[in-house]
Amino acid sequence: MTAFWTEADFDDHELVQLVHDRASGLTAILALHSTHLGPAAGGTRFWHYPASMDAMRDALRLSRGMSYKNAMAGLPMGGGKAVILAPQDRAKTPELLAAFGDAVDALGGRYVTAEDVGISEVDMVAVSKRTQYVSGLPAQGSGAAGGDPGPFTAIGIYHGIKAAVRYKLGRDSVEGVHVALQGVGSVGGGVAQLLSKDGAKLTLSDIDEGRAAALARDLGAETAAPDAIMGVACDVFSPNALGAILDDEGIARLEAPIVAGGANNQLGRAGHGQKLADRGILYAPDYVINAGGIISVALEFLSRQQGQSGDINEVRKRLAQIPDRLVEIWEQSDKTGVSPDVVADRIAQKLIGR
Ligand code: NAD
Repeated sequence: MTAFWTEADFDDHELVQLVHDRASGLTAILALHSTHLGPAAGGTRFWHYPASMDAMRDALRLSRGMSYKNAMAGLPMGGGKAVILAPQDRAKTPELLAAFGDAVDALGGRYVTAEDVGISEVDMVAVSKRTQYVSGLPAQGSGAAGGDPGPFTAIGIYHGIKAAVRYKLGRDSVEGVHVALQGVGSVGGGVAQLLSKDGAKLTLSDIDEGRAAALARDLGAETAAPDAIMGVACDVFSPNALGAILDDEGIARLEAPIVAGGANNQLGRAGHGQKLADRGILYAPDYVINAGGIISVALEFLSRQQGQSGDINEVRKRLAQIPDRLVEIWEQSDKTGVSPDVVADRIAQKLIGR
């Protein structure tokens, strides 16, 4: 068996805790990468892993990603992530969520959780019965931050795409700009709606082809098959589904001068950012452009700690700062010849004291 501290993904994580509760059947890994800037914040993934080492790798990789994302978003939060190893039937019981809440609580606020793949707002409400270190809870009234982070993530990406179009194509509006979207779920669907209002030309794709077709009808957009979307000739390719799509093959297929979308971990491996740059493609580093959701849940959490509800206007103000960060990264990249993903990593590492 490989020891996880020899894994490439282990990056001096401050704490990696295995929790096993026989009574409820909970097995979880809580990974705290860095608390340099504040409590480690990041969602909980509920997933069935064929091998437990895959769960460990996910926890290590995702928690480091959260350190970078939170630092770059200017949040007073570190980075962490929890992974619950779901049974094969993916049964999720109240007892299991309660035991998970107790495990989060036992860390005394060093880790703050939220939704991720497989975990809903309802699940977070259940967890919040056992610990106060939870975010992504339903918004308390209009004008308050909170709830599903997806729409906030979409707003940040919309701002980021507009910034990329201005930077690379010299166009102040996205009217008539052709954007090809891979995935039109919570995030991609929201991005498509916002771009459509501005008169962008859209090509939509989703493995749920009915979903893509319905949205395309609503917005007067075109659709493309899932295996064709990366090769669509367009101005912006916007990945909003899976990670690791920007590998050798994916990059070779692109017919777009810009890649800007919300999917996490878009680059296949280190080095693929440079490959994009070599092809003259402007890349918006994923964890910079997709920080809208964590901005919303973090502000909700920090406000609740002070007995207040988060201010939606403050969330919107911070979302509108995402383009400034992207432009700073692209300018540094142009000046130094270092690809934007590496520029972003270096800034983030400095911010978290590494
Ligand atoms: P979602 O499940 O609502 O939507 C994902 C969509 O992608 C679904 O409609 C799915 O059918 C589709 N899809 C899956 N594989 C596909 C493929 N090969 N080709 C085309 N479509 C495919 O999820 P989401 O919340 O919209 O998240 C999308 C991505 O954004 C994920 O990578 C997620 O990690 C990332 N992200 C989400 C948030 C958030 O706030 N929800 C924040 C940051 C990053």
